[in-house]
Amino acid sequence: MAQTMQTLPENGHKDSSFAPNRHAFHADDLKLQPVADKVLGGERLGFEDGLALYRSGDILAIGWLANYVRERLHGNVAYFNVNRHINPTNVCVAACRLCAFGRRKDTPGSYTMALEEAWETAASGYSEAVTEFHIVGGLHPDLPFQYFLDLVAGLKERFPQVHIKAFTMVEVAFLAKRAKLTIEETLRQLKQAGVDSLPGGGAEIFADRVRHIICDHKIDGDQWLDTARIAHKIGLRSNATMLYGHVENEEDRVDHLLRLRALQDETGGFQTFIPLAFHPDNTPLEHLPRTTGLLDIKQIAVSRLLLDNFSHIKAYWQMLTPKIAQISLRFGADDLDGTVIEEKIYHDAGATTPQGMRREELIRLIREAGREPIERDTMYRPVTRSENTFTVAV
Ligand code: SF4
Repeated sequence: MAQTMQTLPENGHKDSSFAPNRHAFHADDLKLQPVADKVLGGERLGFEDGLALYRSGDILAIGWLANYVRERLHGNVAYFNVNRHINPTNVCVAACRLCAFGRRKDTPGSYTMALEEAWETAASGYSEAVTEFHIVGGLHPDLPFQYFLDLVAGLKERFPQVHIKAFTMVEVAFLAKRAKLTIEETLRQLKQAGVDSLPGGGAEIFADRVRHIICDHKIDGDQWLDTARIAHKIGLRSNATMLYGHVENEEDRVDHLLRLRALQDETGGFQTFIPLAFHPDNTPLEHLPRTTGLLDIKQIAVSRLLLDNFSHIKAYWQMLTPKIAQISLRFGADDLDGTVIEEKIYHDAGATTPQGMRREELIRLIREAGREPIERDTMYRPVTRSENTFTVAV
């Protein structure tokens, strides 16, 4: 029996005057017609549909469909935010082959911020009144759980208006193990200290075969999903990601997206999906080529089409480049992420993008794509600014 697409609530900020005047669907690749029939009929796509999309080179037809869904959900609006990344340590006990960021303790280039240093780092990006701190780091073998609780509590005390999006499912599971606590208790204590939501990293690709190659020291796909399930249960929303463009195949990508979709059906706790293009430089997988523009754009579009129960698809400009991210706004994406002051993780892996972008530049990118920019906070509430302060509409 055909499954109907989940109905997402219409976005409150959708421009009601926006009336797309689009041409009828046309595919050069006739294998896409059955997929199009489902999308236009509000029917949920399945595994084979995902494969058909990945295996087609008809990027304009795929983009047309993704844009159709994107505009149905968000009209002409495109989101961005003003945020700062804080990576408290790059010391990590894991040695994921996908990673250029983690270092062994006491090796050249390794660092761990003292709490004061982390709080000062947060303040140094405050000139544009950030609305979000995005905090992720390595799996440090010695830092006690209390360090992370104090880090978050100290930030909340100093910047009570700023949303704290902190610690991937992988970090949470590691902290729980180190503190000999359950995942639920660990998350409850982090929430109590001031964590407002969780980022989506560490998901990589759920398929075991791939995980063994790229990150065999990490929790497995089921554990990642279980940790997200518990976070959602206790009222912490999270994002979700997928790292593509390494040793995975099309089946692995579709499997990953459908497993996320199944958990979203269950909890509704995912906020945004972010496809992450693999950057091989300075990793043990350096011999692999970088992703192409076509794959990057297709990944955005296929995500929009398969993840019918996710409100937002983010084109993370740091990974995709501002140019590809901008084009993605017409291929299914509704969000560019943010100013991202001081990105480290992908720059260690050879990202050539700037480590941050001014608000005005994000607005220019969005406007030039023919979209209407809306600055949002982490929960997608519109932000109004004056000078160096901001107000969040609630
Ligand atoms: S990806 Fe994360 S867990 Fe893996 S080595 Fe890098 S910092 Fe450590």
